[in-house]
Amino acid sequence: MMIVMKNGATEEQINGVVEKLHSIGAEAHLSQGQFKTIIGAIGDREKISEIPFAALAGVENVIPVMKPYKLVSREFHPEGTVVQVGPVQFGAQGFVVIAGPCAVESEKQLISAAEAVKKAGAHILRGGAFKPRTSPYSFQGLGEEGLKLLARAREVTGLPVVTEIVDVRHVVMVSNYADMLQIGARNMQNFLLLREVGMQDKPVMLKRGLSSTIEEMLMAAEYIVRGGNNNVVLCERGIRTFETATRNTLDLSAVPLVKQLSHLPIVVDPSHATGKREIIAALSKGALAVGADGVMVEMHPDPKAALCDGPQSLDFEEFAGLMEELRAVAAPLGRTI
Ligand code: PEP
Ligand code: MN
Repeated sequence: MMIVMKNGATEEQINGVVEKLHSIGAEAHLSQGQFKTIIGAIGDREKISEIPFAALAGVENVIPVMKPYKLVSREFHPEGTVVQVGPVQFGAQGFVVIAGPCAVESEKQLISAAEAVKKAGAHILRGGAFKPRTSPYSFQGLGEEGLKLLARAREVTGLPVVTEIVDVRHVVMVSNYADMLQIGARNMQNFLLLREVGMQDKPVMLKRGLSSTIEEMLMAAEYIVRGGNNNVVLCERGIRTFETATRNTLDLSAVPLVKQLSHLPIVVDPSHATGKREIIAALSKGALAVGADGVMVEMHPDPKAALCDGPQSLDFEEFAGLMEELRAVAAPLGRTI
């Protein structure tokens, strides 16, 4: 339930509504705009619906919310949220490009990739130190050693870094090194992990689960925001369908839909969505055209020697070419890169 206060409602009137909610054990989340305050009522729906909010002083309108998520909904927070990661802003006019190898493999590999990311004019370095692999026999990542290399790459290039967190026990360790924590597709419904990252203050990139609906993704984001961390960037990374020509099926429709439903920024990962380096540029431009706030692409100094996801990784030249193509599309759309 959303309680929309009248323009210029007094603090006493706002407190009156908040106290009513507290009296039945519900929570009140305030969204204060320049003129209007909107109060999100969270708690037992039955009890909340029994309160005659419309009769309380200063209340303009009461909107029942049928959607199961509230804090991440656009109804609750009409203006788009801008998530800041170092100097980079998601959800503003700029189109953010995150790039780097699937996995951190060595100092040489990571630093050269980071330098190529920087040189091409991209904004954030990615690289997995903890890799959630389908097979326990595949390379699992360098662990903390990989995090140290990411921190070193940031020192060398000045680029903020994003890396995946797979375990609640790693929250403090990973946040000591990373600028943004990634929750991978396989962990999108790891509710304990969502709660933990919601209770710390590093921004979070939440990837859509392999078989998750848009609503489930927004519910997962709700867990994080409910913990107090509003800095969540969603990531559409393809979903499982009957199609086998690509690794997953990129759901570009999720971008404008999420923009309608939620105030959170959303980026697209065409690398994991398709598994095919030949079509990464086309889909990155598509992501920009449908209004995404950025893309995340995998690149590697030598894709054929990559320990993870080589077939979908661009080499440095291809990556620089992608940046050029994106710039050409961004300009007429009024976006900057
Ligand atoms: C990744 O980005 O490194 C990754 C493992 O992606 P996803 O969780 O989308 O499969
Ligand atoms: Mn990968």
